[in-house]
Amino acid sequence: MLLIHCPYCQEERPELEFHGAGEAHIERPQNITEITDAEFEKFFFIRENRKGLVFERWRHLHGCGRFFNAARHSVSDKFICTYKAGDKKPKITDKQIAAVLPPAKTKSTKNKGAK
Ligand SMILES: [Zn+2]
Repeated sequence: MLLIHCPYCQEERPELEFHGAGEAHIERPQNITEITDAEFEKFFFIRENRKGLVFERWRHLHGCGRFFNAARHSVSDKFICTYKAGDKKPKITDKQIAAVLPPAKTKSTKNKGAK
């Protein structure tokens, strides 16, 4: 079972206690009544949905109930770190990313030379 660290409870808890809440660090425009429909669409609907390092909001729904942010690798589904909402986006090093990457697939040599 995947364990997630809640930065408020300071505990590793089962993923069933948590709920993902989308991409983190989305800033609401200051002048939201003045922006165009296209700008509003971009703010409200468009997300990066990257493959690899992602920053997400999570909620400890069946725990303290608080929202927090997490850096996670979307391929391996492993968390790199979690941090309190409002904290700055942490710098994630290549070493941290490499530590959560899935094992590299080796090329099969089974059919080598066969036709
Ligand atoms: Zn918590």
